[in-house]
Amino acid sequence: MTAEPGRDTGADGQDAHRVAAEALDAVRAAADAAQLEAVRALYLGRGDGRLTVFRRGLGKLADADARRALGQTVNTLTERVSDAIDERRAELEVAARAQQDATEALDLTWPPRPLRRGRLNPVTLAAREIRRIFGQIGYIAVAGPEVEYDRYNFTLVNQPPGHPARDAHDTFYVDDSRLLRTHTSPVQIRSMLVRGAPQRVIVPGKAYRRDYDASHLPMFHQVEGLCIDEGIAVSDLKGTLEFFVRSFFAADARVRWRPHNFPFTEPSLELELACVSCDGSGCTLCKHSGWLELLGCGMVHPAVLRNGGIDPERYSGFAFGMGIERAAMLAYDISDMRLLYENDVRFLRPVS
Ligand SMILES: [Zn+2]
Repeated sequence: MTAEPGRDTGADGQDAHRVAAEALDAVRAAADAAQLEAVRALYLGRGDGRLTVFRRGLGKLADADARRALGQTVNTLTERVSDAIDERRAELEVAARAQQDATEALDLTWPPRPLRRGRLNPVTLAAREIRRIFGQIGYIAVAGPEVEYDRYNFTLVNQPPGHPARDAHDTFYVDDSRLLRTHTSPVQIRSMLVRGAPQRVIVPGKAYRRDYDASHLPMFHQVEGLCIDEGIAVSDLKGTLEFFVRSFFAADARVRWRPHNFPFTEPSLELELACVSCDGSGCTLCKHSGWLELLGCGMVHPAVLRNGGIDPERYSGFAFGMGIERAAMLAYDISDMRLLYENDVRFLRPVS
């Protein structure tokens, strides 16, 4: 319906158009959601919005048609401004999202950072593997005290006071009769006294000596082995340890046997492994000999059997002792023993 002149919305209608035009300009100029909300409140606010107030003038118009016309005009203008605000809000949201995408530069195709998992120390890995291998051939793993009596650590394994072999062990003494065990051998005596014969045990555990360099630590791990039965001979010793070496290092690992001397075995032998680095041709690891000392062993001395309560006339046995750090270093190609205990993740990570 077109309002007739004089019955139009008159000055009020003109003013409403002008205010609405201002409002639309302000909506287009709003740079963000907050400014847009301020514009909405200014023009369309309930009660005193600059466009809203025109409704108050309606009551003053006596002419019903003029009143209806002004009412329609204000409604139309309000709707137009309101639509413009909604449209501008949508535009601002799109722009804000584009801005965020540009500044955060989130690339969802980028590969994730690798998840780094903890690894077991090579000594732990080697000890577990040693237990597994000997477990396959009937050995049980046993333990003994680390604070040990001098008697078990030395005397009962054939190193009575004054024996020169004691000097080779730089010992941490706790008091006159007790010490930090310098090897796992005292557990041989303890196991013989508890289990008697026959028995097959290994003793993985810690030992202590006053030593510290690239191949010696004040605390280190040994595995002791003991096999006692009737008729045990050197061939059993060799067969068992060759089986172990081929299981632990490589199926084609070569060994050689050298005579040695230990107080607790007779005869005593040393097992040498063909160098894991040069396979026998000579390198710095094997000091150009082609061979690496791996462990000491021998037939249990009759006196040691007797100290363990076992009759050497009826039973015989063999024993061996090996440094677990040494085995781990050779198996995992580690040059300095101290690396095993520095907890450097760069060192621990590649060993799986
Ligand atoms: Zn070598």
